[in-house]
Amino acid sequence: MEAVDQIINAKWIITGDENNPILEDHALVIHNGKIKDILPINKISENYNSDSIQNFSSHAFLPGFINAHTHLSMNYFRGLADDLALMDWLNNHIWPAERKWVSEEFVSDASQFAMAEMIRSGTTCFNDMYFFLSATADAADKAGIRGCIGMTVIDFPTAWAKDPDDYIAKGLEFFQAYKNHPRITPTFAPHAPYTVADSTLLKIKELAQTHHLKINMHIHETADEIHQALAATQMRPLKRLQKLGLISPQLIAIHMTQINDEDLQILEAERPQIVHCPESNMKLASGVCPVEKFKTLKLNVALGTDGAASNNDLDMLGEMRSAAFLAKLSTHDSTSLSALEAINMATMNGAKALGLDNTIGSLSMNKSADFIAIHLDEIETLPLYHPVSQIVYAASRQQVTDVWVAGKQLMKNRELLTLDEKELITKAKSWQKKLSNLA
Ligand SMILES: [Zn+2]
Repeated sequence: MEAVDQIINAKWIITGDENNPILEDHALVIHNGKIKDILPINKISENYNSDSIQNFSSHAFLPGFINAHTHLSMNYFRGLADDLALMDWLNNHIWPAERKWVSEEFVSDASQFAMAEMIRSGTTCFNDMYFFLSATADAADKAGIRGCIGMTVIDFPTAWAKDPDDYIAKGLEFFQAYKNHPRITPTFAPHAPYTVADSTLLKIKELAQTHHLKINMHIHETADEIHQALAATQMRPLKRLQKLGLISPQLIAIHMTQINDEDLQILEAERPQIVHCPESNMKLASGVCPVEKFKTLKLNVALGTDGAASNNDLDMLGEMRSAAFLAKLSTHDSTSLSALEAINMATMNGAKALGLDNTIGSLSMNKSADFIAIHLDEIETLPLYHPVSQIVYAASRQQVTDVWVAGKQLMKNRELLTLDEKELITKAKSWQKKLSNLA
């Protein structure tokens, strides 16, 4: 008999483990922030005891969702400008608002606000791309959530940095400060092929190799991006990035909606990580990321919401449903992207894309105890023939009741334990007043 920190009894455990995907009436044994064991509830008392035993007889447990692409601080721009084309939306609404308002304080407040939304919807790890990186990192440190934070680089000045060298210098300073944090992983994030010059991309490539960093980039998001690149360089952006030596498994290629046969050959040869953001792509009418084609090439495809200004939420349950539906509609094949594949995209594939698959992504022995509970005994998700189907096709984020990261509980029965919900609402309303004056 061994004493452990926590024993959590669950009706269902969707492990994300290839060999044992769905377990019934099993318990998670948590010790020192890690999953020590998973075994049938009736075998627990023979092996373990704990001062903390919780029972979840009508819940499904899953690995926490991994939102593989987002811009947390854009939560304060949610609903500010909708129903516009990408470049109109960026040039005439989002970028002017960012120039006017983005600051250390803005990013700190907006990041915490976004983290609350993520925890309340079962996301335990995010992959962010924004400015004032340590404001977001400090917020994540306090909130107890896990995150990758992109060292953004873009050719034009912002409130955060004045030119590409300044962005890189500030990024590296951030990297040095946070590289050993247990839950925060710095990455590089050159914004997009059309906003970062070749010389800067080459510098980033070298630094990323030296420091073993992932490189995030929005790539082939819209048809316009391809047309402009062809006019300017006579090359599609993917081809240009390949020539620069930037495409490799270290690259996280976000969006990828415009893909022809030549692109597929590049991807098959260089094998980058891909992040699909179906709702942002639908809302901005950007196109469809051909997930089924990527699956045939055995490329790793993760799932992201993008920022809340182009989605307009950070709801990974909704994103999974959209990904499954969009795959079926766009291939005219209802067997495309099953419910379990959608869950894998939101968990294990995200962990692989971020290079964190030894730590998170599935409920497996010795991985970090990052997991969530979804209450399924509700009108909306009964009768319960297949928990995976109910989770992807019927459950809403309000049914996520409890969330843990590294064994620490961040939400208990819908109550946030590390963030102050009332204070977050007050601050959001106060920023709303300021931002309303923009128009
Ligand atoms: Zn984005």
